[in-house]
Amino acid sequence: ERRSGKELRELFLKFFEEKGCKRYHSFSLVPDDPTLLFTIAGMVPFKPYFLGLKKPEVTRATTAQKCVRTNDIENVGHTARHHTFFEMLGNFSFGDYFKEEIIPWAWEFLTERVGLDPNRLYATVYLDDDEAFDIWHEKVGLPKERIFRLGEDDNFWAAGPVGPCGPCSEIIYDQGEEFSCGKPSCNVGCDCDRYLEIWNLVFMQYNRDKEGKLTPLPKKNIDTGMGLERLASVVQGAPNDFETDLFRPIMEKACELVNVKYGEDPKKDMAVKIISDHIRASAFMIADGVLPTNDGTGYVLRRLIRRSVRFGRLLGIERPFLTELLPVVRQSIGDEYHELVEQASAIEQVLSTEEERFSRTLSQGSELMYSEIEKLEAAGKKELPGDVAFVLYDTFGFPLELTEEMCEERGISVDEEGFEGAMEAQRERARAASRQTSSVMSKSVYTELADRLAPSPFCGYEKTSCEASV
Ligand code: ATP
Ligand code: MG
Ligand code: MG
Ligand code: MG
Repeated sequence: ERRSGKELRELFLKFFEEKGCKRYHSFSLVPDDPTLLFTIAGMVPFKPYFLGLKKPEVTRATTAQKCVRTNDIENVGHTARHHTFFEMLGNFSFGDYFKEEIIPWAWEFLTERVGLDPNRLYATVYLDDDEAFDIWHEKVGLPKERIFRLGEDDNFWAAGPVGPCGPCSEIIYDQGEEFSCGKPSCNVGCDCDRYLEIWNLVFMQYNRDKEGKLTPLPKKNIDTGMGLERLASVVQGAPNDFETDLFRPIMEKACELVNVKYGEDPKKDMAVKIISDHIRASAFMIADGVLPTNDGTGYVLRRLIRRSVRFGRLLGIERPFLTELLPVVRQSIGDEYHELVEQASAIEQVLSTEEERFSRTLSQGSELMYSEIEKLEAAGKKELPGDVAFVLYDTFGFPLELTEEMCEERGISVDEEGFEGAMEAQRERARAASRQTSSVMSKSVYTELADRLAPSPFCGYEKTSCEASV
């Protein structure tokens, strides 16, 4: 029996409703949280309750939460399991149930409700978390050799340097030998796709003070997160998330548009995966009110759209094509997320405007870049000057990261400091110009000019305090 993504989402939410959790609809991708650009995990909308800043209306909750992780942009298509936009299935306890309950429940859900083969499952726990180890071993019956103790990077979670934190326990599914990276060290905890991390259970049980001292919290919390796409891939026996029913209609349409036969050329497959990922993310971002701009969330959106256009070009499609993927995005996931349907025309308009804008300069910009690269190669140099990267950014609309990525394909790095310097000099010129002219110009003309001359500094991209966690 192969359950669909939609069925799995429902199965999860129902299961935790039965355990007394209140089901909430997904919250926005853009969080009410100045430390984060996007909702990166299911716990983000509930942070005030975990931090004790607000009193929750219930002590148990469950969601399928729309998430965006910018730190994974470059993993997309390279690994079987990373997306920019994904759905995180989560359940949360605000001072209510704890390890004793959640570990057996997670096991029950995966093995009994979903029917995963228990012999393929492993658990990880934090180094000294004997409590979790014993629950896995004694209460669940998982053999000791299938429980791994891992360190801080994998198995300790913190919302920031001070505040609530705690060990976590991850559930791993062995996809089999053929997924292994082949290194002798490949085992649970390896970064390749063989030992696939599907679910992270966080035990928020300490408060960390400025000196780094841990004190047990009076009320312990649970925060768990499982990627729906990954769960679907193991349930459906798909070699990667893009071959699950959640992505298949998008992948098929993308292949048709760019005239690629999936499975013939890994490089082309990767480009199609990237386009399929980014179109979904872009549609959801726009539906939640993000517009392509030069900073913050808007810059991420711009980068995703422009990256998709470029991968389309690499596959040989010259005309605008992104909006033609929107109907299949709605078809694959629109019945859960009505905003995609309600905002359909806005999404289409924003996307086509941005695509057209970039299409006009992509060829010229690429030409300029490659001729600069040839000059560098002829001179035996390995770094693209910052002012060239700046012209590409300012005149041709190349996000810096795109320039870096295109250069990297040719073994060239980019002088980022030089880029920042050119940007600052530009801003200074704009300020000087506006001092001279603002007295005679109307406010709107002035703002328009300033916008054009001085792209806002790109900051905040790394504002992710709990990036590496659920
Ligand atoms: P990985 O090690 O694979 O990058 P992670 O440890 O960063 O995952 P967590 O922060 O623990 O992930 O998030 C909880 C769950 O969310 C993961 O176990 C996984 O199922 C899912 N998940 C995390 N990042 C992504 C992503 N970029 N795309 C899809 N699912 C993801
Ligand atoms: Mg991990
Ligand atoms: Mg994890
Ligand atoms: Mg990660």
